[in-house]
Amino acid sequence: MAGSLRDSAPAYRCAARSPAPTTTGTAQPAASRGPARPGTVDTRDLTPCQAVRTHDQRRRTSDEGEPVLHVNHATTAAPGGANEDYLVTGPAWIAVLDGATAPRDVDSGCVHDVRWLVRTLAMAVAERIEEPWPLTRVLSEAIHATMRAHGDGCDLVNPDSPSATIAIVRRTGDHVDYLVLCDSPIAIRHRDGTVTVVADDRLNHLPGGHPYRLELIRSLRNQPDGFWVASTAPHAAAEALTGSVPVADVTGIGMFTDGVTRLVEWYGRSWEQVLDTLTERGPASLLADVREAELTYGPPRPAKVHDDATAAWVLPIPVT
Ligand SMILES: [Zn+2]
Repeated sequence: MAGSLRDSAPAYRCAARSPAPTTTGTAQPAASRGPARPGTVDTRDLTPCQAVRTHDQRRRTSDEGEPVLHVNHATTAAPGGANEDYLVTGPAWIAVLDGATAPRDVDSGCVHDVRWLVRTLAMAVAERIEEPWPLTRVLSEAIHATMRAHGDGCDLVNPDSPSATIAIVRRTGDHVDYLVLCDSPIAIRHRDGTVTVVADDRLNHLPGGHPYRLELIRSLRNQPDGFWVASTAPHAAAEALTGSVPVADVTGIGMFTDGVTRLVEWYGRSWEQVLDTLTERGPASLLADVREAELTYGPPRPAKVHDDATAAWVLPIPVT
């Protein structure tokens, strides 16, 4: 998350507020979503045991081989800085994280830095993501584990404790499940060429307008009518945007931190063009385009000149 105090101009479809008009995927906060769609699994009313059986059933449909995802990715720090983005991937899943840059002179109550937070949280997700759980449970328990890892020396009720966005994509049998918490969106390209963007832009719609006062951020972090982020509140996971898409309907999924999405928000590139670049030239080339746009047109105001930037291009591989 590139500076929670900076402005941003969302120019893309926000699934949190305007669910995408698609028959193949919806994205709503897991805690408040509507009726389940035909052909998808809605875990709201399932007990954990029922949820396990549901996912196991999916896996049994793929006895011919292990479901996998092919992932290309690239990540780069803002010039002169340490990269506070992070990603971790396995055979059938990927998680992309963006650590929130704390304002200077703020006491976070924590002896750790943001890079520690994103790595610790990423590893906690990796340890749990192959469990047959909904992604919200994976994230909730990973946040719990990260809180334990802080130790007694950190004040976990401090509203400035390090935090991170997270986006997760996981294949389970013949579906791809996703979770988006805070401003690291994903873009799903469907077989008919249309694109569904899953973007949690609640951080861009806090009351009072930009630039946000620090006190406002503190008071609305992980609060109803505020914004939700991975830090010291496991129940934030239930507020993530989640959904599931049939593998047969997906030709690729782009995952981005907001250091990349400024290409769309500020520099006029369409989501379709961004996904075309991932397809034709790959994630590293897309990051190069970001830096070129920043130098050519100037930085988004009042955002950073450059930000850490991460992009991944995820392809479902047919089960053989
Ligand atoms: Zn700590």
